[in-house]
Amino acid sequence: MSQVVTVIGGGLAGSEAAWQLAQRGHQVRLFEMRPVKSTGAHVSDRLAELVCSNSLGSKLPDRATGILQNEMRMLGSLLMRCAQEAAVPAGGALAVDRERFAHSVTETLDAHPGIEIRREEVTALPLDQAVIVATGPLTSPALSVAIGQLTGEDYLYFYDAISPIVQAASIDMSRAFQANRYGRGEDSSGDYINCPMDKPAYDRFVEALKDAETIELRDFEREDPNFFEGCVPIEQLARRGHDTLAFGPMRPVGLTDPHTGRRPHAVVQMRQDDIAGDLYNVVGFQTNIRWKRQREILRLIPGLEAAEFLRMGQMHRNTFLNAPALLAPTMRFRGQERLYFAGQITGVEGYVGNIATGLLAALNLSRQLRGQAAWIPPADTMLGALSHYVTHSEPKRFQPMKANLGILPPLPVKIKNKAERKRAYAERATASMLDSLQALNDALINCRLAAARAEN
Ligand SMILES: Cc1cc2nc3c(=O)[nH]c(=O)nc-3n(C[C@H](O)[C@H](O)[C@H](O)COP(=O)(O)OP(=O)(O)OC[C@H]3O[C@@H](n4cnc5c(N)ncnc54)[C@H](O)[C@@H]3O)c2cc1C
Repeated sequence: MSQVVTVIGGGLAGSEAAWQLAQRGHQVRLFEMRPVKSTGAHVSDRLAELVCSNSLGSKLPDRATGILQNEMRMLGSLLMRCAQEAAVPAGGALAVDRERFAHSVTETLDAHPGIEIRREEVTALPLDQAVIVATGPLTSPALSVAIGQLTGEDYLYFYDAISPIVQAASIDMSRAFQANRYGRGEDSSGDYINCPMDKPAYDRFVEALKDAETIELRDFEREDPNFFEGCVPIEQLARRGHDTLAFGPMRPVGLTDPHTGRRPHAVVQMRQDDIAGDLYNVVGFQTNIRWKRQREILRLIPGLEAAEFLRMGQMHRNTFLNAPALLAPTMRFRGQERLYFAGQITGVEGYVGNIATGLLAALNLSRQLRGQAAWIPPADTMLGALSHYVTHSEPKRFQPMKANLGILPPLPVKIKNKAERKRAYAERATASMLDSLQALNDALINCRLAAARAEN
């Protein structure tokens, strides 16, 4: 196979993508701008450098990252193999010696005859070639401009302003109530869960916000002129004036508390975040408050006293596409035949999720170049659920997502026991991935599956 394929970005997704393509016989040109130009967060010139934690998440087979790791092994991921080899003791987590991990990925790619590594910043998209863009959350400014020109500026974001996400089952509905403002919307029972506050509760909440310690911005975030533009954290709103929140994201207009028959002084609204309705995000509550204190303050909200949070609110520099509007579940850019995106820039979060989209994009680009049908992982696998989530969410409200059980489709029968429910999700995902891979007719994967069968 003579056609050269370009991969831009030698991080987690790009390294996996380059190797998968080369293993399938493609000539790969991998562009990595380090050490010529730094991102501000990476500290070495190694490929697949882990920028922060050395943990790839839980390896327990019934946890979300454990399920995804298992699927990646079935798919023959290079980076999962390197992680396994570089693993350090970390209880139920798959943590790695970061030096060893990055070293072995770099060595493997360096030694591969099908991969040419170029240490250069790419500043324009080579749309006349087959390309995977995997330049991550800290994509260089020049390339961001080029991507923005292709997508339209409204479809490329430069930071995450994430509201907390609450497990629906942990909300006290004897205090909260379901309703839409002014009773609007198709569902008469209401799409939103509302937590009403009287004046004393609101006063206490605002005072707690004003005093809360926040996470320091880092230099590469402070320097970015796009950071924070148009999206103010709640603690900052509280400091602007005592009533600012009550006239902003916590305004009570159009809502009557059925428990009192009155309009509350202020309201915290939560909107459904997953298809199953297990998760709700707290509307307009982007915040930089440290997580422990954030949890305590959010539990001051009536109805959330015992809330369990899937994700805390946070704001950080993050370049990502409005994937639901721009990407197909294969990671191909809609409207450009041979342009794919992978990694954090697609709106998938977490190390393993980033590696997984690199593999997914490479597999599909390879299949496309060979004239084979695209592969969309089944929605009840973790990879399928993640790629489905980022490409099918409501584009106007899109926020990045990491692997979690809440994005999997509901089980055919309700299982009350939590441990049994998790196991059922994991077993269904494994069986479904296996079925799908057996039907895929990919020589490399067939070999792996045969080897795994021989081992068992
Ligand atoms: C500061 C920070 C901390 C994080 N901590 C964690 C964590 O602890 N756990 C977790 O799960 N996730 C974390 N993430 C989120 C995410 O999982 C990681 O950023 C992950 O590395 C993303 O993988 P990626 O392949 O998409 O991008 P990266 O691994 O960042 O790789 C992108 C590569 O592209 C290169 N590049 C950028 N622009 C160009 C260009 N124009 N030309 C050529 N090369 C270019 C970069 O140098 C980089 O090597 C963190 C993110 C950041 C920014």
